[in-house]
Amino acid sequence: MNYKYLIVGGGVAGTTAAETIRKNDPEGSLAIISDEPYRFYSRIMLSKPSFFLGKVPFDSVWLKKKEWYSDNKVELLKGKVATSLDSSKKVIKLDDGTEVGYEKLLLSIGAHARRWPIEGADKKGVHYYRTLEETKGILDQLKDAKSAVLIGSGFVSFETADLLRMAGKEVTLVMMENYYWEPFLDENSGKMIEASLEKAGVKIIHKMEVQKILGDEHVAGVILKDGTQIDCDMIVAGIGVVCDHKWLESSGLKRNRGILANEYLETSLPDVYTAGDSSEFNDLILGEVVQLGNWVNAQEQGKTAAINMVGRERKPFKSVSFYTTQGLGLGIAMVGDVRPLPDRKVIVRGSPEEGAYGRIFIDTSGEIIGATLINRGGELMTLTKLIEQNIKMTGKEAELGDTDKDLKMLLATALAPVSVSGNGEASAVPVEKPFEKIKVGWFSFSCCEDNTVIFTEVMNDHWQEWKKIFDFRHARVLKKHNIMDEFDVAFIEGAIASPEHEAKLKDIRSRSKILVAVGACAVIGLPAGQRNTFTDDQKNAIQFLIDKFGALPKVLKVADVVKVDADIPGCPMDPKVFLEKTNAVVKMLRPELQ
Ligand SMILES: Cc1cc2nc3c(=O)[nH]c(=O)nc-3n(C[C@H](O)[C@H](O)[C@H](O)COP(=O)(O)OP(=O)(O)OC[C@H]3O[C@@H](n4cnc5c(N)ncnc54)[C@H](O)[C@@H]3O)c2cc1C
Ligand code: SF4
Repeated sequence: MNYKYLIVGGGVAGTTAAETIRKNDPEGSLAIISDEPYRFYSRIMLSKPSFFLGKVPFDSVWLKKKEWYSDNKVELLKGKVATSLDSSKKVIKLDDGTEVGYEKLLLSIGAHARRWPIEGADKKGVHYYRTLEETKGILDQLKDAKSAVLIGSGFVSFETADLLRMAGKEVTLVMMENYYWEPFLDENSGKMIEASLEKAGVKIIHKMEVQKILGDEHVAGVILKDGTQIDCDMIVAGIGVVCDHKWLESSGLKRNRGILANEYLETSLPDVYTAGDSSEFNDLILGEVVQLGNWVNAQEQGKTAAINMVGRERKPFKSVSFYTTQGLGLGIAMVGDVRPLPDRKVIVRGSPEEGAYGRIFIDTSGEIIGATLINRGGELMTLTKLIEQNIKMTGKEAELGDTDKDLKMLLATALAPVSVSGNGEASAVPVEKPFEKIKVGWFSFSCCEDNTVIFTEVMNDHWQEWKKIFDFRHARVLKKHNIMDEFDVAFIEGAIASPEHEAKLKDIRSRSKILVAVGACAVIGLPAGQRNTFTDDQKNAIQFLIDKFGALPKVLKVADVVKVDADIPGCPMDPKVFLEKTNAVVKMLRPELQ
């Protein structure tokens, strides 16, 4: 068997790569080798309450239909383990002895749950939580189990504790650390997580290890190193993940914890690429070699590696990685590099007492490189942009830590410092006599709020003129106290995703003389409304979120709900078009200014 493109690993990195290759090379032969017996499924879904508690059909876990592979001429070699690589012959050997040749090879082999190095860990009832097979093992036992012990303090234990408590099980969590997620989180953040676990009825034991697993064939309990005995029917060990690349040793491929790669995701061997959790790559934004473990990173790396494999262009991978989880009343997010290295400055934002607490990491050059956020998820995208833009924060530390200061404003100012002169179309508007200012409202619905950032940048350039003619009555990005009365013009950004959005938009329309839809999400409903275009499988996979947030079955553009007087398309909008339309609105409302 020989393929133009061969991919080892059929997770999100491998499957996205296959999809991207097909878009760019419709005919090149392509195969995916997967040691799992399944087609592409959602690993994220495995720990979602709706799936775990059986509230959505099991089939919602699949992210590709069976026919997708044949329709796209992608051969899926399921249940086959790649056991060696000979890069001089360009051949991968499988566990059944088959040799598979390639022209371009992608190693997207992800990671597996770290095995618990303790005697008795092979007893029935000891679980790991990474694959669909392992999840089935947990679910099979769930009906009969009464109590569980969780090992480790990380994402897996946090999510599993929440799920098992929802399923009515007694849960004890044993960790070696002094507080949850030490050292990635500080003690304040760790204690916030512990408080929410304890409130949900989880018993936490710190600075402790298991000495012995009790039971014959099946787990009956554990004895801790201090002699305490805890009876339980199941154990879930969430002690990290490991990329298993030992089988690549004889190939001479350079490896560390992951497979080493440059910023193009090219490995040390010719025509061999890596992507996803298995890649340890040169991160251009952070300026160092890192290995990440999250879905979006794996997906985006799959795309970049595929483009480079097809070879029409050579594209570097550049993206800020983030990971989020929700549960037990907490929203936890980590963005960028959150390693607690001694030379990093940490700015604290909010406090555990307020219930919203963040830590922003600044490197020695003064740039933001990462952040951990608890119940401050609304700031995730702005922080991502601040990291992406490599903006120096020297001298702005106090503002970063001041929760009265909106980070979006800080970003907008950093991107476009205030210009006193002003030089665009709006400055052509002469202002000779006092007059009634134009009342403006700026509203954001379902979207990334990039148009708001552009709006504030444009405003900075034209502030001297604008402050004479506009009265910004409602614009959350500009002020804390907003007034909801009458507007001469309301700018609407974002798509309409819930009944609350619909009602609010109708209310704004009733108060506004002119209503302008701003950006693609508002004008055509996309990209915010991508779920409208999902396949049935994909729709099933997200149905629990739609139910949870009471969202509309279909995302709407602004014109689906109210009359729109003007559109400013673009994703994000073009500042020039925004100025042209704003000038037109000014002419219409205040002709005396001409
Ligand atoms: C329960 C759970 C919940 C998660 N929730 C989130 C979340 O909310 N948000 C988020 O961003 N991330 C989440 N993650 C992490 C996310 O799922 C991973 O980062 C992502 O799936 C990595 O994708 P990948 O394609 O790089 O690797 P993987 O998905 O691990 O795929 C690699 C594949 O390669 C196969 N393979 C390995 N070696 C071989 C070999 N020698 N031969 C053949 N096949 C091989 C593996 O078996 C696997 O099927 C979660 C993970 C888990 C387990
Ligand atoms: S149109 Fe694009 S830039 Fe604007 S809000 Fe939507 S996603 Fe963001």
